[in-house]
Order: sequence, then C-alpha cells, then structure tokens
Amino acid sequence: MKNYLQLTRHTGNATLFLAAEMSLISTLQGLPFHIHAEGLRGTGKTTIMRSVKQILPNITRIKGCLYNCDPNNPHCPQHAKLTPEEIAEIGTEEIPTPFLEISHSAKIGTVAGTIDLNKLTNPTQPEAALLPGIIPQAHRGIIFVDEINRLADTSPEITDVLLDAMGTKPGRIQIEETGLPLVDVSVSASVWAASNPDEEPGPLAEIRRQLSDRFDLVIPMGRPSTPEEVVDILKMDESSDDRELSAQEQSHLEQLKTNIENIAQQRDLEMPDYLTNFLANLYINYNIESLRALEAIRQAAILHTCLRKRNQVIISDIITVLPLALYHRVSPATLTEIMNTVNSNRMMGNDNKKNGSGFSLPRFFQQKQAEPQQFAESAPPEKARSLRDLPENGLIKKEKES
Ligand SMILES: [Zn+2]
Repeated sequence: MKNYLQLTRHTGNATLFLAAEMSLISTLQGLPFHIHAEGLRGTGKTTIMRSVKQILPNITRIKGCLYNCDPNNPHCPQHAKLTPEEIAEIGTEEIPTPFLEISHSAKIGTVAGTIDLNKLTNPTQPEAALLPGIIPQAHRGIIFVDEINRLADTSPEITDVLLDAMGTKPGRIQIEETGLPLVDVSVSASVWAASNPDEEPGPLAEIRRQLSDRFDLVIPMGRPSTPEEVVDILKMDESSDDRELSAQEQSHLEQLKTNIENIAQQRDLEMPDYLTNFLANLYINYNIESLRALEAIRQAAILHTCLRKRNQVIISDIITVLPLALYHRVSPATLTEIMNTVNSNRMMGNDNKKNGSGFSLPRFFQQKQAEPQQFAESAPPEKARSLRDLPENGLIKKEKES
C-alpha cells in the first residue's frame, strides 16, 4: 500500500485529504464525522482513505475490551458498571485508533455482532457470549465502506444498522442473538465511504436517500487539472511502490500523527452568532430540506478552523465546507445559486467585518481557467489547492445534464 506521504495531492483530490483529516480530528475528539467520496474509478479515493491508517494516533482502552471502552467512561455491557478501582485492577492498554472495513460479502453478524464460537466451544469452560461485530469494535475509530451504493442496494439489513449507528452522534447499535440478552451499546465511530455514482446501481442519494443524508460531507473526486500535476503523479507512481520508508519519512509520519493529536486537543471552539444567523437564513431562504445539513456545516467549519490552527471560525471556513455539505442535499441549480449569492455578497463587502480577513473569494461557479489562487488563507496544506475546482468535475456538468 502507498504511504500517506507518497500520495500526490492535486486539485482533484486535495479536498478528500482535507475532509479525511477533519474527520480524524473529530473522531479523536469523540464526535463522529461521516464523509463520502464520490468519483470515477482511478481517482484514488479508496487509496487515500485507507492510507490514513498510517497516521492514526493511539487510544487507551480497558485491557482486552473489544468494545474499546474508555477507562474513564466505560460503556460496554461488561465494564459499564465497574468502579474506577475495579477498572484499574483490569488495567489499560494502548491500541491504534480502530480503522475497520465492512466488505460486500459481510454478513449482519459480522457487522453487528454474533455468538462467540470460541467461548462456546471452549472445552474447559464453555459459555455463551457475544462477539461484537465490526461496528461496535470500531468505537472511537473509523468504519470504511467501499462502494457504499452497492452495499445499500444489496444489503438492506446492514444499511439499517448503519443508519442507526449514524443516526445520532454518538450512534447506537443493537446486537441480537438467539438465547442471549439483547445488547444495546452506543458507538462513536466515523463512517467513511466511497462510491462511483456512474456505475451500477447509481448514486447513493438515489438508492437510499436517508443513508446519503447521514454523511456530513460528500467529496466529489476530480482529476488533476495541470500537466505539472500529472507529471508529479506519474513520477510518484514509478518511484514509490512499497519501498521502505527512509528515517526522515518515518519521522515525518510521526510528526503528522502528533500534529493531528495536538489539533484534536482544541475542543472549545464555537460558532460566532453572526455565522449561525447566516446559516439560519440560508436554511430558510433556500428551503433546505435537512437540518442535518446545517449541523454538518457547523461541525465542518469548526473542524476546518481547528485544522488551520485558528481560534475563531470565519466565513471562509463556512464557504470552504458549504458545497461539500450541500452537494448531496440540494439540487445542483440551488447549490450554484447559493454559492453565487454568498460569493457576490462577499465581493460587495456585505460580509461582517468581524472576521478580519481582507481576501476576496473565489468564484466557485463562474470559473475561469488559471485564475490566480486568491484563497491562500483557506487553502489546504501542502501543494493542495482549494475547492474552486470542484464544479468543473461535478456540479456544472450535472447542471448541464439535468
Ligand atoms: Zn468494555
């Protein structure tokens, strides 16, 4: 597998790096943040998402607890009622933040939980016990689902379990097994999904709208937009297949990990009132169907602020995440209208000056080629550039088609 650092960041995939890091920070803060990358085969969405495994910080859990009980806040059937002294007696251990995958062949028992055959067939001390499935075992971590549109189409039962796990933050899961008491535990895990809307059975929003709406952000994957970026990718591809990492690269990965951990410590950010009012107006004026959209924008803007290491949310944070939170929730025409309005207000200086930033905004939906980057303050790290290139690969095209 490619190393997180070896992956080329370009205009078409930069947003996914950004969203993945935002979600990872939120997960470490104990608040799930669900993201869905949509794009054609070969845009690297699953590679990027899986490579995040390499920068996952450790978490501390009660020793041996498959539900990843936080020693300070145990929640599983076995540990929830124990006293701090009893927990201290069991001890704790460090494990990497869980990153578990739900495959297409997965059965409901594997995903939710099933009877523990090892314990049942133990010759010295047979007992009937539950083995938690992928979702409860991903508590405090990430659940990855590739081709989520196919899963939603072929496995309605697993989809229902996902809907529960993503319905609230944290979510819930019920594990039922004949002959054993029902287990109902909370699960705080971020769901990361990928899909190709152009392949069977089509876009997730059309297969299972409710599940599509559970994702805080949808990230449309694009292609690199300059020859230089393509050359970069080609060079990367020939030089980097599974080679050993140098000591310097190892230490860079460690630094990234520490950086993410430090950013996750910042938990006291709040949305200023004028921005909350701005979102409320958006909701009313454009008749946005889902209140989840507003909640997603709020959470995403705060995470974006954290990632930029600022201590105040500003309008550019909202504008960066807005198209991603609305992509799957409003029509392309409405999204274009919203972004045009927001941008023209900014151009005319109608924005509240409290944010103190004097830059002008990119015109998302009236894109001119090779326009100079005016969005430096909000640009994703490294070589990545901002979202202004999105429409080229998604929104405008869809608008024309519709
Ligand atoms: Zn436990």
